[in-house]
Order: sequence, then C-alpha cells, then structure tokens
Amino acid sequence: MNVLVINCGSSSLKYQLIDSESEEVLAKGLCERIGIDGRLTYQKAGLDKEITDAAMPTHKEAIQMVLDALVNEKTGAIKSLSEINAVGHRVVHGGEKFASSVVITEDVIKTVEECNDLAPLHNPANIIGIRACQALMPNVPMVGVFDTAFHQTMPAKAYLYGLPYEYYDKYKVRRYGFHGTSHDFVSKATAEYLGIDYNNSKIIVAHLGNGASISAVLNGKCVDTSMGLTPLEGLVMGTRCGDIDPSIMEFIAKKENLDIDGVMEVLNKKSGVFGMSGVSSDFRDLTAAREDGNEKAAMAIDVFCYRVAKYIGSYVAAMNGVDAIAFTAGIGENTQHIRENVLSYLGYLGINLDKEVNDSARGVEATISTPDSKVKVVVIPTNEELAICRETVRLV
Ligand code: AMP
Repeated sequence: MNVLVINCGSSSLKYQLIDSESEEVLAKGLCERIGIDGRLTYQKAGLDKEITDAAMPTHKEAIQMVLDALVNEKTGAIKSLSEINAVGHRVVHGGEKFASSVVITEDVIKTVEECNDLAPLHNPANIIGIRACQALMPNVPMVGVFDTAFHQTMPAKAYLYGLPYEYYDKYKVRRYGFHGTSHDFVSKATAEYLGIDYNNSKIIVAHLGNGASISAVLNGKCVDTSMGLTPLEGLVMGTRCGDIDPSIMEFIAKKENLDIDGVMEVLNKKSGVFGMSGVSSDFRDLTAAREDGNEKAAMAIDVFCYRVAKYIGSYVAAMNGVDAIAFTAGIGENTQHIRENVLSYLGYLGINLDKEVNDSARGVEATISTPDSKVKVVVIPTNEELAICRETVRLV
C-alpha cells in the first residue's frame, strides 16, 4: 500500500509518499512559508527537484498542492489519489495519553488538543495538518505517530523532577522525551544489525542532529532519555542550551533586562554550539572553523562531545551495563571526528574504536568498534518517515 507521511510545522510541511511493501520513497518534498507566501518542493524518485512558488494561505492549500503534484500527468508518482491508501502524521506531544501510535478519530484529536499547552508551537500545527488532510481525503484512514510515545515506558524515578509533586499532579510536569520515533527505529535496527535479541539487550541511542537526544533502551523499552518536558533539556544542541543551572535564567534576566520570553528565546535559539562558537549551529561550519584555528568553534565541539559522553556514562549506570551504542541523525551518521571524540572518554567500558571503519562510515550502517571491543558501537541511519509508514501500516 502507499502511505503519505506528513510532518507538519507551523509554517512548513514535509511529506513523503512511501510504497510500504518495497519501502521505496515514491516522491518527497516540502511546503515552506505557509501563511506567508508559499513554496512547494517536489521530487519524484529518480527525477530532479522541482520548486514552485505559489500562494499557500493555509495548510489546506499546501496539502492540495502536494496532492496535485503527486498526480501530475508528467511528473506525478501516482495516477490518482485513490492510490494513497493511508496517511501517517507525525505528532509531537502525546503527553501521558499516548504510549503508542493510534488511528486518528475525533476523540484522538480532542485528546491531542489537551496536550497543546505542553507543545504550544508544534501540536496545534500537527492538528491543522490532520484537519487539512481529512478535508481533502475524507475516506483515507489516518494514523498519529507521537514523538513522545516510545519514552512512555520510563519509570517514575526517571521521569519525575525534584519539584513539588503537585506540579506533576496538577500540570503533568515531568520528563517526556522526544525523537521517540527515531530512538524506537534505531534501537530496533541496532539489535537487528548486530543479531542480538532486542528483548534481552541494553542499547544506548545517541540521536545527534540539530536537535540532539540520547536514550537508554533496556530489553526493548526506553528507561531514560535526555530531553524533558520540552526538547530544551539534555545535550548541548545546535541552538539549544541543554542542561543548565536553572538559576542562570534569573541571573541573565536581571543582567540583560529580559523577561521570561526573552530568556527562553536565548536558551532555545541563541545558545548551544551556535551561541558558544558565534559561528554556526551546523557542525560542517564548526568543523571548518576549527580547522581554520577558531578556538571557540573547537571549544563548542568539545563541550558537545563531553556532554554526550557523560550522558552515555550515566545510562550505562541506569542499565547496569550496555551491549551496544548507536550513533544516528545528521551528526551521528556523518561526522566521524565527533564519534571519535565521544568514544575517547569511554575506554573504561572496554570500547575500542576501529578508526579506519569510523573514518569511512557516512550515512550507512557500520560497526565502528573493533571485533574485540566489549561494547559494540554502530552507526545506524535513522528514518523517521519510514518508521511512521510502518506504524501506519501496522494500524490500518
Ligand atoms: P539533522 O538535524 O539530523 O538533520 O542534523 C543536522 C546536523 O547534521 C548539522 O549540524 C549538520 O552539520 C550535520 N550533518 C548533516 N549532514 C552532514 C554531512 N553530510 N556531513 C557532516 N555533517 C552533516
């Protein structure tokens, strides 16, 4: 069957049409600047990208343009819309309400809406995307796949903060974690790749992209993850600060005369390796700047790697051991010097890096530890769209 995977943001929308049997991407692209002016990027498998500027006042017009492109006589991937058998929607926050993917009904949409204040920028956009698809494809079944669902197996000792319990009771303030679709996909793929029993394994997944998070997966269940109530906690990221002393917020607010929104803007958008280096949030730029002798870029890279290594150490403690560590996402899959830097802290685990394999592993599955290494270290490309497609097929 053909599954249309939709990942809707407030002014953008990414899509892929996937043939679930062959798992081939038939077409993919994105709509940008929705509500501003509008730009559609469309690429049929094997052909060049097409970019079209056209008005997209709302997500409905954007999705209509995607559907028109998919059935276009010359470059369409399908002949008619009846060839779209199901739609899988990425939904960012399912709170405590969703521990797995669900077929979307009116009740499900209402429940997602109840989680809106936990993800005020993302969930409303996800719902707009669902509504727009429903209006244009009223008879096609739709599935919601949540970024938070995989982490719902965490025990209370991992998800509770050291705050008054009433905040959890009243407002559900707790660790939720994100990138769950990726942690789920990559931890399973790691077990499969290494030929180990997923249900009897200790796997740490380092999803290192512009947003970055780590998870500890014990016997196929997430037991801890680095992102929290929001994606701001944990690792140092492209522009997010990750873990900091919460008192810094008050300190900076007073010094810089900022209100709470101003402080949050700094922590989310102006911090991380971007804020530390003053160069870029992109590791390709940071690496180039370091090679040119930029000390701040070098320091930002070191801070990033050191934090990843500390989290891995803490998750080895959480699981009382580790069988495999998987690197994934843009940086994890492509940047060998980051993997080498992180692993340089982990010799005590009996990890030996195969430098030659590590240096050549880019965007492909690879074992970058030597055969005698006590812990297997692998690169496993993530594929959130394929994971959403598989979940959609499973449910419809
Ligand atoms: P993501 O959020 O997973 O798309 O990852 C974005 C990050 O991955 C950026 O910091 C990029 O520098 C890095 N990245 C993506 N592709 C490559 C590549 N081919 N080589 C090096 N770094 C890459």
